[in-house]
Amino acid sequence: MDNNGFVKDTPWQTNGDSGLHEECGVFGMYDFDGGDVASTIYYGLFALQHRGQESCGIAVSETNGPKGKVTSYKGMGLVNEVFTQDNLEPMHGDIGVGHVRYSTAGASTRENAQPLVLNYVKGTLALAHNGNLINAMELRKDLEYTGAIFQTTIDSEVIAYHIARERLNSNSVEEAVGRACQKIKGAFALVVMSPRKLVGARDPYGFKPLCIGKRDNAYILASETCALDTIGAEYVRDVLPGEIVTITPEGGIQSDLSLALPKEKEARCIFEYIYFARPDSHIDGVSVYASRIKAGRFLAMDSPVDADLVVGVPESGNAAALGYSLQSGIPYGTAFVKNGYVGRTFIKPKQSSRESSVRVKLNVLKEAVDGKRIIMIDDSIVRGTTSDRIVKMLRDAGATEVHVRISSPPFLWPCYFGTDIPEREQLIAYNRSIEDIRKIIGADSLGYLGVERLEEMVGGLSICKGCFTGTYPMEPPKEDIRGDFER
Ligand code: SF4
Repeated sequence: MDNNGFVKDTPWQTNGDSGLHEECGVFGMYDFDGGDVASTIYYGLFALQHRGQESCGIAVSETNGPKGKVTSYKGMGLVNEVFTQDNLEPMHGDIGVGHVRYSTAGASTRENAQPLVLNYVKGTLALAHNGNLINAMELRKDLEYTGAIFQTTIDSEVIAYHIARERLNSNSVEEAVGRACQKIKGAFALVVMSPRKLVGARDPYGFKPLCIGKRDNAYILASETCALDTIGAEYVRDVLPGEIVTITPEGGIQSDLSLALPKEKEARCIFEYIYFARPDSHIDGVSVYASRIKAGRFLAMDSPVDADLVVGVPESGNAAALGYSLQSGIPYGTAFVKNGYVGRTFIKPKQSSRESSVRVKLNVLKEAVDGKRIIMIDDSIVRGTTSDRIVKMLRDAGATEVHVRISSPPFLWPCYFGTDIPEREQLIAYNRSIEDIRKIIGADSLGYLGVERLEEMVGGLSICKGCFTGTYPMEPPKEDIRGDFER
């Protein structure tokens, strides 16, 4: 919170108690016919806005213009706040990258906005990164000892530097990206623009999503398929975990899978399906919406309760609530009206004031819940500070019983890979039983999705469950490295 009482906040934080953030969304495009791509990148970023609302940016270049001449624009705020017709129209280029950001590592400042544009002897690189590296601090120190001067406090700059450095000893930019990817550890989905190539890379575990699309004679890389739908592109395929794709007019899509791991070692962030991704996206062939419906069905099978109405806490609780209803036969209804205009910096009411930030964002439809036994489905409980207020709102509106069902298992461990799940001590489920939590949030009953249901929820894909089990796909750092560059 700043001195004026403004806080970082987002319309998406109305999701019950989670308030969790995705780190970023990335987008890249190369039009082989030479058309300008900036305005399409703008719409692509607009579709990825839910992945980051703090800052955004676009960098474009002309592949047949002067080598390495990049035009970029970035700023703090939402895509439609930062970009105007006046600053988009002069951005000419048939290749480009874009980014929306929420910070889990590195401060929320304009310098830390992406894409990062780096000039070096081989030309210019522009890079957009989603994810969190766990060895960025070590790599950054190594680079600083050899003379590198960093302009930002984000780990993405470490990647950009490594690519630039490796490029000096490589035959191609994709080879340099591959060598850099061998050094960096953690979660990354990258889109890199070189003077003549668009390169996409996904870490070997596949923590973060990245897909390929095509529109006429242009190729697209995007964090989620909803961005392809928005710009009228067809889905080609996902970039595979550990894959580096290089897109050029001469070669089309060229693939390098030398970093790929055996399938069973892949570790997609399950939270993409539970909460982050838009329900109209598909990740690695699995519909996000369908996976949420399944989670609701599992809850109905594993934590049944008799009631009159199933409701979801918008947005990601809605599909799971529908799944619960379909499975149980209990009618599905709408209990909450969400204020869609809660902006990025809304003035959070003081503790003492009569307004509550939950009520500013959500209101209850009294007519829908009065006199009824309600099953309320939410995607997660992190600290528990919001769930109790939502339960109370339902009771105040006349609900006779409130049964809470959560479409994820209890959070017991932090995340080091790009989700801002806090330290254990701040997690409501840490050192508490389900019954303790039920009492704290004031529900009549409480049930969570079982950890063993997670793979089933995504059709057997290999996933990361570290924040629920404490077993991470790779050794976590000894200490919490998130935001370390500021210390
Ligand atoms: S620890 Fe949790 S939030 Fe982090 S990548 Fe794994 S599943 Fe996602």
